Amino acid sequence: MVQIANNNLFEGIAPKELMDATYRASENFQVRAFFEAKDDIIKAGKYSENEFYEILDALIDAETERKLVSDLLKGKKPLFLYEIVEHLKNFPAKNVVRDIIYLKEQGYIKELIEVKTKMVIKKIKGEEKEVEEKEYFYRYQVKELLDNVIEHYFEPVSIVFNSGVCCHCGWCSSICPVNAINVSADTLDVDDEICMKCGLCYTVCPRSFSIDQAYSTISKLNKTLNFSESMGAYINTYTATTTKEEIKKVRQDGGIVTSILEYLLTHNIVDAIIAVQHSKDLWRPEPVIVESVKELYKTGGTKYANSPSLTIIEKAKNFERIAVVGVPCMMKALFKGTLFPSGLPFFKNIKYTIGLFCMESFSYDNIIQLTKDKFSQEITNLTKMNIDSGKFIINLKNGEEMAVELKEVQSYARDNCHYCEDLTSDYADISVGSIGSKAGYSSVITRSINGDELFSEIIESGLVEVQNLKEVKPGQALAERIAGSKRTKCKPIELRK
Ligand SMILES: Cc1cc2nc3c(=O)[nH]c(=O)nc-3n(C[C@H](O)[C@H](O)[C@H](O)COP(=O)(O)OP(=O)(O)OC[C@H]3O[C@@H](n4cnc5c(N)ncnc54)[C@H](O)[C@@H]3O)c2cc1C
Ligand code: SF4
Ligand code: SF4
Ligand code: SF4
Repeated sequence: MVQIANNNLFEGIAPKELMDATYRASENFQVRAFFEAKDDIIKAGKYSENEFYEILDALIDAETERKLVSDLLKGKKPLFLYEIVEHLKNFPAKNVVRDIIYLKEQGYIKELIEVKTKMVIKKIKGEEKEVEEKEYFYRYQVKELLDNVIEHYFEPVSIVFNSGVCCHCGWCSSICPVNAINVSADTLDVDDEICMKCGLCYTVCPRSFSIDQAYSTISKLNKTLNFSESMGAYINTYTATTTKEEIKKVRQDGGIVTSILEYLLTHNIVDAIIAVQHSKDLWRPEPVIVESVKELYKTGGTKYANSPSLTIIEKAKNFERIAVVGVPCMMKALFKGTLFPSGLPFFKNIKYTIGLFCMESFSYDNIIQLTKDKFSQEITNLTKMNIDSGKFIINLKNGEEMAVELKEVQSYARDNCHYCEDLTSDYADISVGSIGSKAGYSSVITRSINGDELFSEIIESGLVEVQNLKEVKPGQALAERIAGSKRTKCKPIELRK
C-alpha cells in the first residue's frame, strides 16, 4: 500500500519561519477539534493515548508544512502541480502534491481549469471517424490577500450522504475517533451529539473532494510506472488462472483473488484478510475478517450487492498485518486515508490492497427485484451471477444458465455508482477483473512495487498460470476502452451544502 513519508524535518526552513508556521498550524480547526476532544477520543477506545498523540503530532506537522508551502507560493502565477513540485524542491514531491490539493479544499488555493479541444481519429462500430476530444489542464495559485482568507471548515460526512453520492464504503465509520458514524449498505448516520466536528471523516471520504489530480501527478512522477489515462498507473498486466482445484470450485473468474489471499495467509505474509461472504441471507454480502484458508474459500465468488467492507477495518486493528479486498471506491478511500490529512495512515496494519474491477453494484433489494423481473427466479435458486460480454448472467441450482443484455439491468444499479470514474481499482496494489480475459481467467494489474513483487512470487510458486494481457485477445485494449468509457460517463460530484 502506498504510504507518504511524514515530513518531520523541515530542512532549510529558518527557525523563526518554522515557529510561526507551527503556531498558525495549531490554530487549524481540525487540529483544535482533535486536541480538545482528547478525553472523549480515548474513552471511545478506537485510538490509544499513544496513537492519539501520534495522530495529533502528524496533523500538526502536515498543517505546518501546508502553511510553509502556501507562504512559498504567495505571489506566483498559476502553476501545474509538477511545476510546483520542481519549485519546492526542499519538500518531498508527494507531500507537495497532497498539500496543494488540501490547501485548495481549505480555501487557500484556487484551481484554474483550462479546456482545450482537439480532433482525434477513433474506431466507432468498426469505422474510423474523426471526433472532438476535450483535454483538461489544471493549474494552482495561492489566493490573493491570503491573510484574509477564511479557512473552510470540513462538515461531517452527512453532507456526502445527503447529496446522494455516498458509495457506502464504510471508511468514515472506521476512522471517526469518537464512533459517531454508522454506515450500512444503504444508510449512513452521524450522531450529532457525539460528533466533535473534526472533519476527519470528510477528509478521507472518496466522495468529498477529488484526489484525481494528486493521483495522476504522483503516479507520473514515478518513472518506473506505466501510466494509462483510462486504467491508471501500473507495472505489469496479465491474464491469469489458478492451478488449484479447490479454488476453481469457489471462484468467480480465474480464482486469482482467492489465490493471492491464500498465498498471503499460508506464507505468513499477513495475519488476516478483510473479504466478503454471503450473510445468512444468500447473496447479501457481509464483510468478514478471515484468518484461515477454510474460511477464505467461503468468500470466493462475486456478490453484486454492495458491501460496506471498510466498516470492519477498525475491528481488525489488533492484527499486525492485514490485506483488504474491495471494489474501486474502497481502494480510493484507503489511498485517500494515506494522503490526508497527515500522510500518516490511520491503520498502519494494512499491508496489501486487492481491488476488483467494478462497473456498478446493486442494492440487495434491487438484486432480488432484478432476479424476479428479468428471470422470474427467486434469489435463493441462484448459484452464480456474472457480468460478461455485455450480458448479465445467472446460473441456477438445476444447472441452467440464463442471460439478459446488461443494459436491461442497468436501471437496477445504485445511483451513487454513476459518480464513479474508476473501473479497474486504480488505487489498489493489485487489481483483478474479468474484462479483457476469456472465461475462467482474470485480468490482473500490478500497480505498486509491493503488489508486483507479491504477484511475481505467486507466479513462481506455480499457484497461478499467466500470460501477458497485452498479448491475448480481447486483452488490455478492451479493458482500457471500457475503463475509458466509464471515466467519460461519470457524473460530476456536487455536494449540497
Ligand atoms: C460489485 C462488483 C462488480 C463487479 N463488476 C465487474 C465488472 O464490471 N467487470 C469486471 O471485469 N469485473 C467486475 N467485478 C470483478 C469480478 O466479478 C471478479 O470479482 C474478479 O474478476 C475476480 O475474480 P476471481 O475469480 O479472481 O475472484 P475470486 O477468487 O472468486 O474472489 C472474489 C473476491 O471478491 C470478494 N467480493 C465478492 N463480492 C464482493 C463485494 N460485493 N464487495 C467486495 N468484495 C467482494 C470476495 O471477498 C473474494 O475475495 C465486479 C466485482 C464486484 C464485487
Ligand atoms: S467514507 Fe464512504 S461511507 Fe463514508 S460518506 Fe464517504 S463514501 Fe460514504
Ligand atoms: S463524525 Fe466526522 S467530524 Fe464528527 S467526530 Fe466523527 S470524524 Fe469527526
Ligand atoms: S461502481 Fe464505483 S461506487 Fe459503485 S460499487 Fe463499484 S467502485 Fe463502488
